[in-house]
Amino acid sequence: MERWKRVRLGFARYKISALVATSRVNVRYLTNFSGTAGLAVVTPEEVHLVTDGRYSGRAQEEVFSGVQVHIIRPGQDYWEVVLDLLPVGVRVGLESWNLSVERWTRIQKVFRKKDLQRVRVGSLLEYVRSLKAPEEIARMRQAQALVEEVLSELLGELRPGVTTEKDFAVELQYRLKKRGADDVSFDPIIASGPESAVPHAQSRPVPIQPNTVLLVDVGAIFEGYCSDMTRTFWVGPERPDPEFKRAYMAVLEAQNVAIEVIRDGVRVRTPDEQARKILKRAGLEKFYPHGLGHGVGLEIHEYPALSVHNPDNPLLERNMVVTVEPGVYLAGRFGIRIEDMVRVTDSGVENLTGFPKDLQVL
Ligand code: ZN
Ligand code: ZN
Repeated sequence: MERWKRVRLGFARYKISALVATSRVNVRYLTNFSGTAGLAVVTPEEVHLVTDGRYSGRAQEEVFSGVQVHIIRPGQDYWEVVLDLLPVGVRVGLESWNLSVERWTRIQKVFRKKDLQRVRVGSLLEYVRSLKAPEEIARMRQAQALVEEVLSELLGELRPGVTTEKDFAVELQYRLKKRGADDVSFDPIIASGPESAVPHAQSRPVPIQPNTVLLVDVGAIFEGYCSDMTRTFWVGPERPDPEFKRAYMAVLEAQNVAIEVIRDGVRVRTPDEQARKILKRAGLEKFYPHGLGHGVGLEIHEYPALSVHNPDNPLLERNMVVTVEPGVYLAGRFGIRIEDMVRVTDSGVENLTGFPKDLQVL
C-alpha cells in the first residue's frame, strides 16, 4: 500500500528499521483494524497487527490484505509478541506522544532482551496521514454530502422563537446517524444571537430567536472519515443588521482569498496571512482569534495547522485535505465563521464543500 511505502520512506530520517504504532487512530490507519486494543508493527517488508482474543474475528475481517494478524495468548504481554517480530539490535520507532511514562519504561525492559532501541518518531505518521488517497477523500466527500442534505432539511424546518439550539444539534446528530454516518465528528455547535461570538459555544436549550445570527459548525464521520463545515446565517424576517452584513462580507472575502492562494507547494502560513490582510482592511483583524484551518481525516483536527503561528511552517501538498475557516467574534453582539473543507491540488484546490455561502436569510 502507498501509505506503508510512505511510512518506510520516513524510516531513514529517524534511522529506524521498524515502527510500532500504539494510538488507535494510527493502528487503524495502518491496518484498517477499528478495535480499541491493538498495536501495529511496520517493518521494511511486513505489516503486523497484534491484538487480543476478543477481536480475533473482527481483526481478520477488517484488516487490509497483506496485514498479518497475531492474537496474544491470555495473560501474554503485547510487547512480547512485538519482540518476536523484530530482528536483534535495531532501532524501533515509537509514538512517544501516545505512551505513558509507565509503558515507555516497560517497553525498554522488554526491548533489552533483544538489544532494541526506542526512538521517538514525532509526527511521521501524522504527516503520512495528511496525504489522502482517493478512497479516503471519497469517504470525506460522502460525510460532507450527508451533512449538506440534513442541514438543508433542518434549516427548512427551523421555527424561530420555538426551535432551540439543543433541538437543532440533537436532530442533526440523529438524522446524520440515521442516514448512514458513523456519528458526528464533534458535538455540533449551534450558537444563536450573541452566543455566536463564543468560538466554541455549546448548544443551549434556548430558542433560536428571530432577527438574529445563527452559527452552525457541523461534521459527520463516514466509514471512519470526518467532515467539517461552518455556516453563519441571518434569521429573519427582518433584514440583516448592516454591521453584521458588512462583517459577513469581509469574512467571506477573507475565506475566498485564502482558498485562492492554496495549492501544492504553498507554506501553511500563507493563506492565513492573506485572510488576515482582508480582515485588517475591514478593521476586523483584532476579532479573529484563531488560526485559519486544520487538516481533516480520521480525526477532526489533523496535521497540518494552517496558521500564522505554525512554528514549522511546512508546505501544503497535493491531496492534503484542510479546512479554511476564518471567523470574527464581537463579544456581546455576533460571531461569524465560514468554513469549507478543500483538497489541495497542483494548481489550486478542489472544494469538497458544496453548501452555499452567500449570506442567507432564513
Ligand atoms: Zn468546524
Ligand atoms: Zn474546523
